[in-house]
Amino acid sequence: MIDSPLLGSRSGFIGGRWDSGHSSARFEVVNPANGAILAELPLMSRDDAARSVQAAFEVLGSPISLERRRELLLALVDQIRKEREEIGRIITLENGKPLAEACAEADYAAGFYQYAADHLDRLTPRRLEENPRGHEWTVYARPAGVAGLITPWNFPFAMIAKKLAASLAAGAPAVIKPAEKTPLAMIALFTLLERIGMPSGLANLVFGDASAIGSVLCTDPRVRVVSFTGSTRVGRILLEQSAPHFKRLALELGGNAPFVVFADADLGLAAEHLVQNKLRAGGQTCVCANRLLVERSVADRFEQELVSRLEPLRVGDGMEPGVAVGPMIDRAGYEKVGQHLEDAVAGGARLTYQGRVPVGDDSDDAAETMSRDWGWYFPPTVLRHALPTMLCAREETFGPLFPIFEFESEAEALEMSNDTEYGLAAYLFTGDPRRAERMIERLHYGHVGWNSGTGPTPEAPFGGMGHSGFGREGGVEGLMDFVEFQTVARSPS
Ligand code: NAP
Repeated sequence: MIDSPLLGSRSGFIGGRWDSGHSSARFEVVNPANGAILAELPLMSRDDAARSVQAAFEVLGSPISLERRRELLLALVDQIRKEREEIGRIITLENGKPLAEACAEADYAAGFYQYAADHLDRLTPRRLEENPRGHEWTVYARPAGVAGLITPWNFPFAMIAKKLAASLAAGAPAVIKPAEKTPLAMIALFTLLERIGMPSGLANLVFGDASAIGSVLCTDPRVRVVSFTGSTRVGRILLEQSAPHFKRLALELGGNAPFVVFADADLGLAAEHLVQNKLRAGGQTCVCANRLLVERSVADRFEQELVSRLEPLRVGDGMEPGVAVGPMIDRAGYEKVGQHLEDAVAGGARLTYQGRVPVGDDSDDAAETMSRDWGWYFPPTVLRHALPTMLCAREETFGPLFPIFEFESEAEALEMSNDTEYGLAAYLFTGDPRRAERMIERLHYGHVGWNSGTGPTPEAPFGGMGHSGFGREGGVEGLMDFVEFQTVARSPS
């Protein structure tokens, strides 16, 4: 069991109190690196979700001033910065990512609260200078209502920061449902919220039966906004459930990012950025490069640049120093990458490089393999001659597979890049600025890295197009997700 000053309570949090809900059922949180049971938590129910919604709804009766919201955001930033190492340790233990990366996730999360605090003046009432019809017009940014926030396991502390920073800024009370695999970072967050004296009901935490909790958030009329980060499959369920209730939805869904390398690019730079981009969270991120589209004349050289950077990397338990790639979150995640690899090889792709997994975890023992859901290490693996019809081109692999597809012309690169229903992130490496501008204008993606593999940042709006969802998190745009604008026209008489 994990011992941490940030995990004093092992339960949900409703109406300002730690609350285990009414059900006696429990679930285990397991370290994906070694199978250690970190905690047992109550499996909360539909009723607990409804109580959370009620607690949140009551907050709307006593609006929280902009100044108080700013104080809360800044106090939270202070706490996160103070506790970054401990937060990082919790993230690594439940998610598996390397410790340095997990601590960086805490910093990244703090950035969203800081940005919201620094830009809260965007939500102050605005007087219209034109005074139409001789009236005094004022536009108020009101909290949109109760917000349902549902997050995935790959960034257990950062994904909630993107949503909660904006809902706190708006004064919209939240009901939060974290992923079942990584609820501990969320409990740590609530410990910090309790420490800063967050008003009761302003943020509430429930975990457990995802579809029951999700359906309460999508159907209860008091919840006006549902903000979800996760798979396109679940996003579609939430969309369907919410539609009859006219809720506002923000959906941050899956991706299938092209990483395009032209012959005129700095190949070393492209390979360097690719490795950093692709191996964050072991390749289990929505923005990581999924398809490596490389101009045929430089494909061999690019592969060498890539492999020379992968060779020194160690795969293993994220708590061990020097580990660059942790375990996959679970067996299903591991098997999906394996399936994409097998499908590609069967279709004619060539496996040209594969790293090593920790000794003892490459077990062929069928009985042992069947019984465990931890220790699923997948090494960085490079494929040549991948084709657009293969699974690794059609679906998000969500693991450290590097399939190289070749193209001959700019038109072909563009067509291959946009050949997917997803539209989250794309990356383009070229030394020709005019080519870059032509390509970027035509890439159907919400985020584009130009000679860079960098992903989202708190200061800029981030979100998808097409089946990657809609809505933006981060930047000033992200601050508008949880407000409703109310216009007041006042007659001079
Ligand atoms: P997931 O299976 O969709 O789960 C995400 C969250 O939804 C979890 O909290 C899950 O709870 C919950 N959930 C599952 N079924 C639900 C239902 N019927 N109603 C309401 N909630 C439900 O996704 P994941 O496997 O955790 O995360 C990986 C996916 O997230 C990938 O596709 C990735 O691309 C995407 N992602 C997108 C972004 C982005 O910014 N666009 C960022 C990160 C990840 P349980 O855990 O309890 O099942």
